[in-house]
Amino acid sequence: MAPLPYDKAALEPLMSRETIEYHYGKHYATYVDNLNRLTEGRAEADMTLDSLIRTAVGPVFNNAAQAWNHQFFFEGLTPMPTAVPDRLMHRIAVAFGSFETLEERFISAATGVFGSGWAWLVVGLDGQLTVMTTPNADTPLRDGCVPLLTADVWEHAYYIDYRNRRADYLKAVWKLVDWQKVDARLPE
Ligand code: MN
Repeated sequence: MAPLPYDKAALEPLMSRETIEYHYGKHYATYVDNLNRLTEGRAEADMTLDSLIRTAVGPVFNNAAQAWNHQFFFEGLTPMPTAVPDRLMHRIAVAFGSFETLEERFISAATGVFGSGWAWLVVGLDGQLTVMTTPNADTPLRDGCVPLLTADVWEHAYYIDYRNRRADYLKAVWKLVDWQKVDARLPE
């Protein structure tokens, strides 16, 4: 498991310690444990998570992708958000017109995911920033996109703190985004 880059209670009150204890400490941990169990003694055990996600199918893919997605999600949040760096803001302005439009598009797309899945800000195949969603464990890596930011919209991500109010959870996630991390994920 990738270490949590902040204290379990650091994102309160927007995201509670209890949510982190279950989401990071149980759900994410289970995907990692399942992946290790499924690949034990097999060639896949020596593959990187990235290459596994691009080639695996079935339960190995599902658990590898969920391990990757959760690591990426938790590492994209911070208790001390900073301003959006200029380089990233420029790319957002080109693609969406404004930062506020990106926020609307991202939250609207994430709120609209039917069932379990993920919302993403990615660099698409055309090199432009775009918002997309994936069902279940699916990842934009598989489509050749470069993920910059994700929001987990599985119910386990928000039911402790927000019950059925997914949009309220997403507004909270938006306030916790580490824009310096997102900028660092942007290819040159
Ligand atoms: Mn999750």
